[in-house]
Amino acid sequence: MRLLEFQAKRMLQEHGIPVPKGVLMTSPGEMNKVTYPSVLKAQVPVGGRGKAGAIQIVRREEDGAAMVKKLFDATVKGYPVQAVLAEEWVEIRKELYLAYLIDKENNLPLVMASAEGGVEIEEVARKNPERVIQKHIDPFLGLQDFNLRPLTKALKAEFQSLRALVEAMVRLFHEQDATLVEINPLAVTAKGLVALDAKIVLDDKAAYRHEELFKSLQAEQRGFDKRVRSPSEELAEGTGITYVPLDGDVGMIADGAGTGMLTLDLIHQYGGKAANFCEMGGLSNAETMEKSIQVILGNPRVKVLLIGLIGGMTRMDEMGEGIYQYLKKADRRPPIVVRICGTKADVGKARLKEVGIEAYEDLSAAVQDAVRRVKEL
Ligand code: GDP
Ligand code: MN
Repeated sequence: MRLLEFQAKRMLQEHGIPVPKGVLMTSPGEMNKVTYPSVLKAQVPVGGRGKAGAIQIVRREEDGAAMVKKLFDATVKGYPVQAVLAEEWVEIRKELYLAYLIDKENNLPLVMASAEGGVEIEEVARKNPERVIQKHIDPFLGLQDFNLRPLTKALKAEFQSLRALVEAMVRLFHEQDATLVEINPLAVTAKGLVALDAKIVLDDKAAYRHEELFKSLQAEQRGFDKRVRSPSEELAEGTGITYVPLDGDVGMIADGAGTGMLTLDLIHQYGGKAANFCEMGGLSNAETMEKSIQVILGNPRVKVLLIGLIGGMTRMDEMGEGIYQYLKKADRRPPIVVRICGTKADVGKARLKEVGIEAYEDLSAAVQDAVRRVKEL
């Protein structure tokens, strides 16, 4: 579970890490809570808010109202802003980066730090990876002074205060079963180190150990992070069809999650880009197939539709009928490539022939055909 910034900061504060004073607003009507100069921060569960205009510094009270309203009217990376954190403005001398996380490749805790924190950290990591230092921590020994010395040097920080801060992060990490605690920027200010932004991810698999906490964090977030959904996502809601939008142009439907994953891999392998993941959740009837096609073609980016089916429990006569029914009524009809095999495949195939579809037996061949057709368009 990813916490919103205000939740993450509250957790940092509870563990003794300094954060700026702030108030949370859930509507522009609460703007009398704001003091100036202020930093207004849209509470959306995505990074890069600064660059997206979702972090605004307001110096004068007379500019506050317009800016608060502007933020509440905004949508940031698909998330309409439903809460704004107003914090007292802090003068920054330097922006550092500090994170504690599990390095999954090495199965070890990892401290990451950089003297070049702030909104360009991804850029720094890409262009000058040596400027982001990474130190593994022995899980049996825990954090040791020798882990901290290179950090102190890289960040030009004061040893004792950096140690206190990293120790608090590590304590939080373990107590709350986090998988990531990231502070960026960690600001060097006249009053010492202050966490100006924080990202905390809690391990969902450990939710049972923190039942109350998860419940209250989720309740708090409800309504704050409603992403604007696409027409396809709206159509899929409540149908039992699993639909995940992706950013390519090959629409795909599978009759099971495993086939679906395999099909995605194959699309990629043959040089295509999937527009979505979709599986029918074991609902093997003609109506679900027809509905699935409507869902996928609700996405205007789809150029070719690839339907990959394995008839076990799923009956191919039903699937063929669903595709047939869609095409009989369809107003949108991009090229459709179908792979059918197994239970009652003959009946399904015959039905598809009536609407001009020559179905494949072989999944690889079908995927290659779909990718080729996209390229021909
Ligand atoms: P992100 O872009 O989503 O990571 O949002 P951040 O909360 O990190 O804010 C982006 C940038 O806004 C920071 O790197 C700071 O440069 C700036 N910023 C945020 N809070 C303050 C503040 O209290 N004072 C000042 N001077 N700048 C701030
Ligand atoms: Mn940040």
